[in-house]
Amino acid sequence: MSKQFPTVLIDRFQRRVDYVRLSITDRCDFRCVYCMAEEMVFVPKRQVLTLEELQQVAQAFTELGVRKIRLTGGEPLIRTNVMGLVEDLGQLPGLEELVITTNGSQLQRLAVPLRQCGVKRVNISLDSLNPRKFRHLTRHGNLDQVIAGIDAAIGAGFDRVKINAVILKGRNDDEVPELVEFVRSRGIDLAFIEEMPLGNIVEHDRALSLCTSAELREIIGRRHSLQALDEQAEHAGPARYYGMADSPSRVGFISPHSENFCHQCNRVRVTAEGRLLLCLGNEHSVDLRAVLRGPDYSLDRLKQVIVDAMDIKPERHYFDNRGEPEILRFMNMTGG
Ligand code: SAM
Ligand code: SF4
Repeated sequence: MSKQFPTVLIDRFQRRVDYVRLSITDRCDFRCVYCMAEEMVFVPKRQVLTLEELQQVAQAFTELGVRKIRLTGGEPLIRTNVMGLVEDLGQLPGLEELVITTNGSQLQRLAVPLRQCGVKRVNISLDSLNPRKFRHLTRHGNLDQVIAGIDAAIGAGFDRVKINAVILKGRNDDEVPELVEFVRSRGIDLAFIEEMPLGNIVEHDRALSLCTSAELREIIGRRHSLQALDEQAEHAGPARYYGMADSPSRVGFISPHSENFCHQCNRVRVTAEGRLLLCLGNEHSVDLRAVLRGPDYSLDRLKQVIVDAMDIKPERHYFDNRGEPEILRFMNMTGG
């Protein structure tokens, strides 16, 4: 008889975990200054979970009550044969939301197939509308290509297209009003993310570059009156959303420094190497790849390891504002 497993994942603090962010590659065609060093050493390919292993991980989680999976990276859409994985995950019973975070570079080609495979929503990173500045911030990115990707996503009819922007003082904080006008003109959403001290970067001093959500709200408030949206309805995760009376666009703020949201954390992450990470701001983790590649592998064994891991999910993260890299792993390993 097969083993009975819980149909929901609950941690020690009685939080239900029903959301997994799956990093499907640590590689990327960009090198954003806040995310990666200019010269990166990527994980050897054999250490990255195969597409079949990723499918097993996703199946184990959904059988344990996970309802939402976000594909991320690195850049998820540069993974070879990514669409085969998306197609498989789109058919997992119990999975209500398959979503993706991307830098947009491949969306002209892939927006429609992603939608057809069941991806519901897409988050696209865009930190500048100035081609030169965009190139500096991403080191390799082409702004026209990303904007065409955003428009392809809008045309593909996702339930929601959202822009993610990381604002750095002295780099792109002057572009906050333009980014808001950009989403308003397209009727899509925008979320500002406070830069987090993940990975050791030398390109700028994170302590000096941090732009808090409160500062951003103040800048936007000069042009638009922001109305906080109903927490229950709109507070899907750590972002606090605001509406504007004259636009369907919503503006969200993700504030890991200034507004702690850990008490309602419902998520875990799986790194490209298959490390189940219980908190973005802590190192508590379990090696799922060892289970997947172990001699006695079974889906049940994987599920048991995931259930047991709930006991080590930390209560909260502590990012200080001095910009110290408390966590040495870069964001591309973890997935945003
Ligand atoms: N490559 C995809 C992209 O850029 O959207 C997906 C992966 S990326 C790591 C996911 C998100 O994390 C992006 O919106 C990016 O801006 C954000 N991010 C990366 N490094 C960050 C950091 N140190 N602090 C805050 N956000 C970061
Ligand atoms: Fe690549 Fe995304 Fe990191 Fe930029 S933020 S370097 S696009 S993984």
